[in-house]
Amino acid sequence: MTADTRRRPKNNVDGETFRDMCRAFAEREIKPRWQQADRDAKFPREFYVAAAQAGLIGLHTPESLGGADLGVTEEAISIEEQAKVNPNLAIVALIQGVAGSLLAEHGSEVHHRLVRENIAGTRLLALAVTEPEAGSDVQNVKTSARRDGDHWVLDGIKSFITLGGDCDTMTVLARTDPSQGRHGMHFFAVDRDTPGVQTSQIKAYANRPVPTYRVMLDNVRVPEERRLAAGFGAIMAGFNRERVMVAARWLGHMQTALAWAIDYAKVRQQFGKPIGANQSIAFKLAQGHVDVQAARHLTYHAAARWDSGVPVKDIILDVSSAKLFVTQAVYRITQDALHIGGGWGITEELPAMRMALDALVAPVTVGSYEIQLRVIAKQLGLPCD
Ligand SMILES: Cc1cc2nc3c(=O)[nH]c(=O)nc-3n(C[C@H](O)[C@H](O)[C@H](O)COP(=O)(O)OP(=O)(O)OC[C@H]3O[C@@H](n4cnc5c(N)ncnc54)[C@H](O)[C@@H]3O)c2cc1C
Repeated sequence: MTADTRRRPKNNVDGETFRDMCRAFAEREIKPRWQQADRDAKFPREFYVAAAQAGLIGLHTPESLGGADLGVTEEAISIEEQAKVNPNLAIVALIQGVAGSLLAEHGSEVHHRLVRENIAGTRLLALAVTEPEAGSDVQNVKTSARRDGDHWVLDGIKSFITLGGDCDTMTVLARTDPSQGRHGMHFFAVDRDTPGVQTSQIKAYANRPVPTYRVMLDNVRVPEERRLAAGFGAIMAGFNRERVMVAARWLGHMQTALAWAIDYAKVRQQFGKPIGANQSIAFKLAQGHVDVQAARHLTYHAAARWDSGVPVKDIILDVSSAKLFVTQAVYRITQDALHIGGGWGITEELPAMRMALDALVAPVTVGSYEIQLRVIAKQLGLPCD
């Protein structure tokens, strides 16, 4: 996939039947697992295997590589339904999709074997782009790749790598030719057990079932055949697809948070009536309902634009608008739910604090609020730096 040419999905399914299947999967495989994983801050690998067995890994990948060759719309449905149960385990398929697409679309047969194993549930992938000094500014990636015969030698530090310490293989963005700026970068498929790769978990208050890691690369030798014909441009296009998935993730979470807050406002009595009888509470929830409707339309509009096959440059505005709105809305809704919970809201007896904590990540990943506003301003032709 490049900015201008894109493969259109070959297959389609009945959306409602597919949604029912994803909902049943989430009830069966996420519900019994996520709380323990959250307490332990430990990824339950068997969940990835279950997702693969259910056919939910590689939804977007061509059938020739073992995938379902469906569209972004189906990926969004899958993630939304999973996120209704837990927004964190829902990102497993998302990460596999982004890393797997790099391998599928820009790789050789060597990489395609990794994709087949990933879809079969035997090779968990991670995406390693971010560094301590290259977060929003991906162009500032410093990890170096130096050619040495038929190998490359990688050195650097990656940070916030989801599943970095759990995966089998990570797609690592490194600088192959410093004189070429952002054009002098390539991805490498690096196995986690390669000598010189070390990982350490970053302890966090949110996103705990699917932890992030620091990944240290010290003199890591990677064969030339593991280098991908893809770098900065490919991941920027990939981020645009990931942003639709992220919107679907928070669309799922906000519905659960809103439904909980509405139920609580109906049953919690103060001054002899439900707290939802007060306009100050009821209006927050009415606004939340409108936010969900708007979020749904923006998310699935962006997904449909992807599936229509138009060039990525023509859908950036739709994608960033969806990502910005949904991540702002989930923040509002979960904060309102926490507030409606009162003192009990911050206790472990209600789910409000857990939901609000998880939503704190929404504004940050795959391009923060400010980065989306910057993208939108540029798309509007404003001379924004
Ligand atoms: C839970 C989690 C999972 C993640 N998973 C992965 C992963 O799997 N792989 C991976 O590679 N990365 C991953 N990341 C990294 C994520 O993409 C970065 O955190 C993100 O890009 C922001 O980078 P940063 O945290 O360094 O913040 P910074 O870039 O330092 O930003 C800090 C603040 O400054 C603002 N800011 C920055 N630049 C500008 C500007 N030009 N104008 C205005 N404001 C600006 C930002 O909006 C933000 O509010 C993950 C992060 C988290 C939290």
